[in-house]
Amino acid sequence: MDFSLTESEGDLVGLCREFAQKEIATRAPAAWEEARCPTDLLREMGALGLLGMLIPEEWGGIGMSTVGFVAAMEQIGLADQSVAAAWQAHVTIGSLPLYLFGDDAQRERWLRPLAEGRVLGAFGLTEPDAGSDARGITTRAVRRDGGWLINGRKAFISNAGTDMSFGVTLLARTGPGEEERPTYATFVVEKGTPGFTAGPKLRGIGWKGLDTRELFFDDVWVSDDHLVGDPAMGLGQFLRTLEVGRISIAALSLSLTQAVLDLALAYAKQRVQFGRPISEFQAIQFKLADIATELEAARWLTYRAASLRDTGQPFLKEASMAKLKASRVATWAASEAVQIHGGIGYMLDSPVARFYCDAKVLEIGEGTNEIQHVVIARALGC
Ligand SMILES: Cc1cc2nc3c(=O)[nH]c(=O)nc-3n(C[C@H](O)[C@H](O)[C@H](O)COP(=O)(O)OP(=O)(O)OC[C@H]3O[C@@H](n4cnc5c(N)ncnc54)[C@H](O)[C@@H]3O)c2cc1C
Repeated sequence: MDFSLTESEGDLVGLCREFAQKEIATRAPAAWEEARCPTDLLREMGALGLLGMLIPEEWGGIGMSTVGFVAAMEQIGLADQSVAAAWQAHVTIGSLPLYLFGDDAQRERWLRPLAEGRVLGAFGLTEPDAGSDARGITTRAVRRDGGWLINGRKAFISNAGTDMSFGVTLLARTGPGEEERPTYATFVVEKGTPGFTAGPKLRGIGWKGLDTRELFFDDVWVSDDHLVGDPAMGLGQFLRTLEVGRISIAALSLSLTQAVLDLALAYAKQRVQFGRPISEFQAIQFKLADIATELEAARWLTYRAASLRDTGQPFLKEASMAKLKASRVATWAASEAVQIHGGIGYMLDSPVARFYCDAKVLEIGEGTNEIQHVVIARALGC
């Protein structure tokens, strides 16, 4: 398969590399330490056009292919995982529901500012009692005064509580009562809407720069034009959006694995024990060779899923396979890279420790790896 980029896509990946090395790598570690979302960096990425990666120019984006987006992510995530996580959540799940399912008025009103990088997008699916089981959400929207009254609560929502956030695109039940086959719909709720509030920023073991919070909806009224797409197909819309999100998490995982490989290799070459660099010990060499090999395997799965999307083919199973493999490789590789560093790798001042902390969530977000197994097994006919 051919995963080559066009000349302009190659230029854009080069721009990402330069911005990542000059700005993100130097400024993001402080934000991680302070557990602060670096919206200054995200605004600058917006000014460069990077926040509208997957949105066509017609709506303010730059219309990058999914393969190009994966290649760009490899550069951004190499520098810092929290910035990359916020960026990818915005580019995929935070923006795509409006592009894929919104009407032109909604795209003009909400998608264009997202794609032009003036505001940050958020995707509200998970609830305290419904994570993997998305059908179990209880946030409800009922018809009221010519619009919709929304009540409920969302958990772990990224990008909704920063000074750059516009609000959230959320999923709510619309079907009546405790029916057997509920219906769901997608709504936009803007920041400042009466009854919409956010909890404090949550404290994770990694992705410390990512802004993730609980969101509360107490008698939030929105007019009809806040309903996105088919009022009965919201769940399907959210699940389709997550397919792209999984390619994105796989790409984020690739970038983390490359980062820890680079760090471990450099450290192994300069750390001397028993009179020679530890890179001369076969045990260390085999670890590095294994990481490089597994990374390459994950890379092929991820680019293949991206390429299938770009060529209009089904990619549900392949996106799940890419996410499953790449996130497993990332968490394992991060652990091996810390091992190669020995004690210094355990200390939070060392970059490899930060990547180690950032790795675990890759197996949880946008569908846990157990759920990726379920998706793949179903696709196999189970
Ligand atoms: C940092 C962070 C950012 C996030 N950002 C967002 C966001 O922006 N928007 C959003 O909507 N959500 C977000 N999430 C939520 C995330 O998508 C959920 O945490 C994830 O889907 C798992 O749901 P849960 O935490 O409720 O776990 P649960 O669903 O309760 O799962 C607990 C365990 O049970 C397993 N399990 C559940 N069902 C099955 C099954 N059928 N078969 C086998 N095993 C099963 C799971 O795999 C897991 O190991 C974020 C989470 C984190 C940690």
